[in-house]
Amino acid sequence: MAGGRTVFRPVPLLTCAWPDEILFMHTVSTCVRSSRHAFRPVTLRSLLIDFNSYFASVEQQLRPELRGRPVGVVPMLADTTCCIAASYEAKAFGVKTGTQVAQARRLCPGIVFVVARHAEYVRIHHRAVAVIDTIAPVEQVLSIDEMACSLPMGWTSRERATQLALRLKAALREALGECLRVSIGIAPNVFLAKQASNLQKPDGLVVLDATDLPGPLLRMQLTDLTGINVRMLARLQASGIHSVEQLWRARREQLRVVWGGIAGEAFYDRLHAVELGLPPAGPRRSLGHSHVLPPPMRSAEGALAVLDRLTQKAAMRLRREHLLAGAMTVALRLTRGRGERLRPQRSARFAATADTRALLHTLLALWPDMVPPGWVPLKVAMLLHDLRQPGQTSGSLFAADAPGSDAQQAALWNAVDALNVRFGRHTVYCGSGHSGRDEAPMRIAFNHIPDLQTEE
Ligand SMILES: [Mg+2]
Repeated sequence: MAGGRTVFRPVPLLTCAWPDEILFMHTVSTCVRSSRHAFRPVTLRSLLIDFNSYFASVEQQLRPELRGRPVGVVPMLADTTCCIAASYEAKAFGVKTGTQVAQARRLCPGIVFVVARHAEYVRIHHRAVAVIDTIAPVEQVLSIDEMACSLPMGWTSRERATQLALRLKAALREALGECLRVSIGIAPNVFLAKQASNLQKPDGLVVLDATDLPGPLLRMQLTDLTGINVRMLARLQASGIHSVEQLWRARREQLRVVWGGIAGEAFYDRLHAVELGLPPAGPRRSLGHSHVLPPPMRSAEGALAVLDRLTQKAAMRLRREHLLAGAMTVALRLTRGRGERLRPQRSARFAATADTRALLHTLLALWPDMVPPGWVPLKVAMLLHDLRQPGQTSGSLFAADAPGSDAQQAALWNAVDALNVRFGRHTVYCGSGHSGRDEAPMRIAFNHIPDLQTEE
């Protein structure tokens, strides 16, 4: 008993034949008994904050002359590139992430294009997380503009969770500025909180209690739900599921078949608010970078120089995360004549390493003839995979693979990294990447927030 209230915690259910029963039992087992209300269900646990048009809003905050105007954020100023973000004023004209610059100009003649400043977006992201953390503990950073919090004890009722969300909005506006608006979703788990945050934009606040379900979800398209992409949509349709309502009514076993494994059951559980926690984050499987080449770098030499730079950057990230890579894949997008495309890709395996020089040798071994005569490279990508911790690997038997001892090599690269962190990214680097050194600045991927120290 605490303050006149008894809280019954959910009991773990090991086996249960009927999923509906799990939901029912869960709801009953998480009741709060108070002196005034007998057995009021408490099902709200997660709060998700999604920044609206994040990159474009940061630009409007930092550059007041852009406020109220349609803005497209682009990786570079070229007609062939795509918008990576659009302000709400631009969205009103149909411009969205992925709209080509030339098309965006046709849709919205007054649009202003600004080149992305990823370092600014990361800096403001860190400030946002710090501000949120003072009000509700941030449990997971889902992307550069999405943070999930668990509702603190005593804040899980609809009224109090709403108060908390309004406090968060006010604190963020105060700390970051009026242009940075957020949509907040509150629900029994992170997945449903995310769907709730999508229901009202911009500046939304939607509470989705277990008793509201499926309610507002039925207005959504299947692909609006996190985790359902075009390929999964095709599989759902093949099994007779064409709407969120049909998905909601589908049995747990049916989703297991559609997903081809327990991921389908996990999806069912998240959708029906059965699963409360977050799936544990697995170990990182790969690490890499890609880069759209600007016109001056669209040659075989330019592409290799940029790949060299990407490899040096990835090697530094490997060391920072205390990992070794055992394989590398290099992929290119090439063009020729009128719209002909070629996507060569090559991979190699090697003794696990985080040594920049060894990784650059692998790149050079993969490279010959990747750009056939007459073809122009548009985009390069390199991925390090087969990642593992240093303790999970045995050293190379062959002296040629490991010049100097592993410890000496590690000490050397740690010293190089320390110099680059202290004095800036181009203080010490391998000369082979010299002409690509100004390319491939920081990029924010969906699931990777760059490290300001290693990637700026
Ligand atoms: Mg967003």
